[in-house]
Amino acid sequence: MSKSVDLFSEAKKFIPGGVNSPARAFKAVNNNPIFIERGKGSLIYDVDANEYIDYVGSWGPMILGYNDPIVIEALQRQLMKGTSFGAPTELETTLASMVVDAIDSIDKVRMVNSGTEATMSALRLARGYTGRDKIVKMEGCYHGHGDSLLVEAGSGLTTLGIAGSPGIPDQIANETIVVPYNDLDILENVFKNYGDEIAAVILEPVTGNMGVIAPKVGYLEGLRELTDKYGSLLIFDEVMTGFRLAYGGAQEIYCVEPDLTTLGKIIGGGLPVGAYGGKAEIMDCVAPEGGVYQAGTLSGNPLAMTAGITTLRLLQRANTYDYLEQKAEILEEGFKANIKELDIDATFSRVGSMFTIFFGPGQVKDYKSAQSSNTDAFAIYFNRMLEEGIYLPPSQFEANFISLAHNDRDLDKTIVANYKALKEVKG
Ligand code: PLP
Repeated sequence: MSKSVDLFSEAKKFIPGGVNSPARAFKAVNNNPIFIERGKGSLIYDVDANEYIDYVGSWGPMILGYNDPIVIEALQRQLMKGTSFGAPTELETTLASMVVDAIDSIDKVRMVNSGTEATMSALRLARGYTGRDKIVKMEGCYHGHGDSLLVEAGSGLTTLGIAGSPGIPDQIANETIVVPYNDLDILENVFKNYGDEIAAVILEPVTGNMGVIAPKVGYLEGLRELTDKYGSLLIFDEVMTGFRLAYGGAQEIYCVEPDLTTLGKIIGGGLPVGAYGGKAEIMDCVAPEGGVYQAGTLSGNPLAMTAGITTLRLLQRANTYDYLEQKAEILEEGFKANIKELDIDATFSRVGSMFTIFFGPGQVKDYKSAQSSNTDAFAIYFNRMLEEGIYLPPSQFEANFISLAHNDRDLDKTIVANYKALKEVKG
């Protein structure tokens, strides 16, 4: 028995399901999770001393790769000064100003501890600012586990949401309207019916949490127009895409400015951080300036701020996003050639350094088309990739991340492994 198997059994005695976040349990791929000991660059090592080329990147934050020496050194210096004070530090202003400089739509930003907190707080602010209660979200977009956002579509496409988990009161779920991603017509109908009740529309501008799906041409612009027309706020959840697709996030690429943006992952450089920001007029409604309450014992934590500042400074180096794009293109070319040669029914979907291989469904444009993927095929693919030393997110409906640490050798090895795993899927 491997140490990972032993550790998982032990963990299950003390932690629900043995993990602190469900996807880590490998249930969707019928396997046991691997317990990680350390990471370096593009590689992670498990407790059984196996080495893997990693495309999870801690679910997005590790854009520089693991244990970047410059980030580690900055953290060590901060560590000697103190880990938390619960009082203002200059570090918070430094990171806030870097976010404001990076993202045109953000005048002011508030730091929190996770992406979930960021989206929950942004919703409260949107509701407080507009005096309205309803929220529109897109089917298949994930915004963390806050009550209002852990809501599924009802049976009809424009029905009010149903709770996505026991423990979420219907009264809360009913305030969330779920519509398909990439469909402006349905959203327009929702606005016609509920326009003056909708506080905000929130979405991942490029989705990662149902697999990577790009917005159709004109979709984000259409959202901007509709929300403006009905006096609702537009919230881009860039927890995953912020500083990932471009330094200024998806909104820089698609040239659409939301009213509020939520951030996380990369801005914490691997430590727990989230943030929400937007126009000063809206952000000034947050306490203590305004009446919308939101607070946090560890918010703006000095270690997390240091990791974030150092990571963003490193991302500012010349050509960062071109390098990522080049690496991603190499993988895309290799994977697509393999898919073609083996005549596999699979679609490679990529935006920047985020990608997903969907097994089977042809063009993927929304949750419904993503859901038609063959998850059994994905499980075979995933497990073979793991055997080949490639660590992928353990679900069909996730984004894979390429980091600046992936080198040509890693990419070549991954393409060779991809061929073998696709061959196994073919049977
Ligand atoms: N929003 C998006 C787009 C995410 O991808 C995630 C997490 O994956 C979240 C919000 C929640 O962030 P966290 O897990 O830090 O609470």
